[in-house]
Amino acid sequence: MKSQGYTPRRMFELSEEFFVSLNLTRMPPEFWEHSIIEKPNGRELICHASAWDFCNGKDFRIKQCTDVTMTDLITVHHEMGHIQYYLQYKHQPNVFRSGANPGFHEAVGDVLALSVATPKHLQKIGLLETVEEDNEADINYLMSIALDKITFLPFGYLMDLWRWGVFSGETKEEDWNCAWWALRYNLQGIKPPVRRSEYDFDPGAKYHIPANVPYIRYFVSFVVQFQFHKALCMKAGEYDPLDPSKPLHKCDIYQSTEAGNALGDMLQLGSSKPWPDALEALTGTRRMDASIIREYFKPLEVWLTENNERHQEFVGWEGESDFCSSDSPARHEPVGEPSSAAAVSPGPLALALVALLVHRTQQ
Ligand SMILES: [Zn+2]
Repeated sequence: MKSQGYTPRRMFELSEEFFVSLNLTRMPPEFWEHSIIEKPNGRELICHASAWDFCNGKDFRIKQCTDVTMTDLITVHHEMGHIQYYLQYKHQPNVFRSGANPGFHEAVGDVLALSVATPKHLQKIGLLETVEEDNEADINYLMSIALDKITFLPFGYLMDLWRWGVFSGETKEEDWNCAWWALRYNLQGIKPPVRRSEYDFDPGAKYHIPANVPYIRYFVSFVVQFQFHKALCMKAGEYDPLDPSKPLHKCDIYQSTEAGNALGDMLQLGSSKPWPDALEALTGTRRMDASIIREYFKPLEVWLTENNERHQEFVGWEGESDFCSSDSPARHEPVGEPSSAAAVSPGPLALALVALLVHRTQQ
């Protein structure tokens, strides 16, 4: 991207062009005038990317300290998804100008990004010279997406699980940090690199905790975005469950007005209907359904199952889990003795779980 002269502005224009190719709405002039898409010089700014609806029907803005990287290109699409939702429901009464549920709002840009990230699409827009068409390339691509989407699921779930425990009083104040690490270990298989205590407050290192932004929305988003993706891909004629030459992970909905119109119809509802109605309008089902994630990653699941069996890999994690204590202040003295490295067997699935922590700038 850098060698092709990409700038933050061009990244946002590329994202806008994808929305327009679907027959969705262009950004209004105010968006380009007032958004901050680069880190300003000479003043402090909270760089965590966010998208804003000023609720006057024309002023919509993004604030993002954009770097010219693929990761940020995906974040650009994520934030532009929020703006597109604002634009689609701006005709609604104020009270209905929000997502069908907060998870829907987080999913819109991610759905487009699932198409943008495909090698086929990257070649189409000149960011990839050649596309390898073999099983190994497929598995590598799916693994890269899995390290983003699958590894996020336990983290997206545990953030509010921890917070709900704190708010209800079930998790006592003297256990806040250790309860955090218990969830991190039990659900993610992750351990701190050094011993922790209640004199640390590690959840506070995640933006959404001090900023008080609810988090379960991202878990919901990571499930429903695959449902949206599947429905849109079928409308675009890019996915056919019965045609092995059209797998879900290769689908690119670019330039499909059928897909775009179907997405637009759902977004225009805002929160005027219960979310199962909005979901049904697009996907034909009223239930969140995580099985679409497995459908998308099917070739990778088959590959991992075979390889883990062949190499007799231990799947999961086990080992010493004493890495956080709530007892005496003496514990807090900096000790140069790290706890053992994450006690996870190095199988591919386990590696996928350990590698987490790419929670993208989402708000
Ligand atoms: Zn977001």
